Amino acid sequence: MPLEHHGIEPVPVADPGQGPEVADTSALRRSAPAAAAARDVDWRDFREHLATAEKDGSRRWLYPKKPSGRLHRHRTGFSWLLLAVMVAGPFVRIRGNPLLMLNIVDRKFSILGFIFWPEDTVIFAVAMLVFLTSIIIFTTAFGRLWCGWACPQTVMMEMVFRKLEWLIEGDGPAARAFDAAPWTWRKAARKALKHGLFLGLSFGVGNLLLSYIIGSDALMAIIRDDPARHVTGLAFMVLFSLLFYAIFARFREQACTFICPYGRLQSALLDENSMVVAYDHVRGDGRGPWRQGDTAGSRKAAGLGDCVNCRQCVAVCPTGIDIRDGIQMECVNCTACIDACDAIMDKVGRPRGLVRYASLNGIKTGAPLRFTPRMAGYSMLLGALASLLAFLVFTRSDVETLLLRAPGGLYQEMPGGRVANLYTVKVVNKSSHDLPVSFRLLNVEGRVQLAGGEGFVVPKEKLGERSLVVDIDASRLAGRRTPLVIGIFSGDRELERVKTVFVGPGA
Ligand code: SF4
Ligand code: SF4
Repeated sequence: MPLEHHGIEPVPVADPGQGPEVADTSALRRSAPAAAAARDVDWRDFREHLATAEKDGSRRWLYPKKPSGRLHRHRTGFSWLLLAVMVAGPFVRIRGNPLLMLNIVDRKFSILGFIFWPEDTVIFAVAMLVFLTSIIIFTTAFGRLWCGWACPQTVMMEMVFRKLEWLIEGDGPAARAFDAAPWTWRKAARKALKHGLFLGLSFGVGNLLLSYIIGSDALMAIIRDDPARHVTGLAFMVLFSLLFYAIFARFREQACTFICPYGRLQSALLDENSMVVAYDHVRGDGRGPWRQGDTAGSRKAAGLGDCVNCRQCVAVCPTGIDIRDGIQMECVNCTACIDACDAIMDKVGRPRGLVRYASLNGIKTGAPLRFTPRMAGYSMLLGALASLLAFLVFTRSDVETLLLRAPGGLYQEMPGGRVANLYTVKVVNKSSHDLPVSFRLLNVEGRVQLAGGEGFVVPKEKLGERSLVVDIDASRLAGRRTPLVIGIFSGDRELERVKTVFVGPGA
């Protein structure tokens, strides 16, 4: 039975072009010419040009069809959750600090309400290590799961801007026809509505990014105060808004293909056991239309597989590629082709999963995708690294103390057989509240006095500096240089310990 009789709309074969393949998918590549020989498969050299570019280099605009299906529903729900977290990030407060803020201007970062400063070098070093290792491990095991499900670019583009566009201009062929139609007042009004909404949304996204960078309080100050006092902030507001408008209205999938380095890393990170969105060439090739009376057996006898060459998987692809050509750099693992193909398989009565999450080895051997020991091992390693980071974060002190002996000073002999040393102490208060601090000797009996009187309050997020006099009975000294451990306290709570030496007259 022709596809149309199944309610399946075949897509013209000469539609979108193909992009370069980056991983070793030789098995898949070999399968395509075989399919071409079997029936009317369009075998093109997709490595010659990008899916989004014509051969002369001009832009090929994509009109993806709206996906629907099980995975799309899950992705939509998950995206709304992510969007809620993304929008709430800079505004929700934990212990008075933003849930997430990456203030690169003041070099101040807030993650889950914990404030980090450039002084937190160990944490930053471990965080960078965890980040880089996570990318490598995660991608090697789970491919581009991040791109399809959690990347802000994909979420905003596919779940917000694209859906708005489909609502106003229609999807797939309808949108193509709308664009090709002559200009009328109605068309102009719909275009104006779309771009007006895109601009408004981009303004929102730009402001959101700004609030991640400078903090929501600073953003509100820019909005409420006299604009003349916030020229730089306003300039960035406009810049970010225009940037996001350009990305979501024009640049689109090219941001993933041309700019994002993560897609390019695929070629280095993926191997034949990585989980990717893949076409099962063993089951699907050779490709050919489903005809009336076709059964799995009759197709097999005719040298045909389950792929009915309907190109629905291509029609829904937001990057314009054909998943049947193998893993390609442009594929963001959005799963739209899985849903599209599953719907076709349902219609022709064949099992779902011709396009599915699978590893290339799994496809070759026919083994279902399993949570392999390798994935388990990588996940455990990731968990261990994340735990180390969490430990460092949760046990991090609120203060960073630097204790230096006063320059040029040795020691001073005091009445009653005591010896005194002078120090300079600098305390960085990393918390979001003013912190009264005091000092105690922990390993030797003696006194610590603040020069200029007692009472040392370090303002929140600031550095406080005082001079400190330590005096110890000479009989308790261990020669000319006595190691000292000084505790920094806030009330009775010990915040940190620092080590130094106490210089005395010696034996
Ligand atoms: S090939 Fe499939 S998973 Fe990859 S981007 Fe296209 S539709 Fe999404
Ligand atoms: S893989 Fe599935 S959706 Fe794609 S052409 Fe073949 S049958 Fe159609």
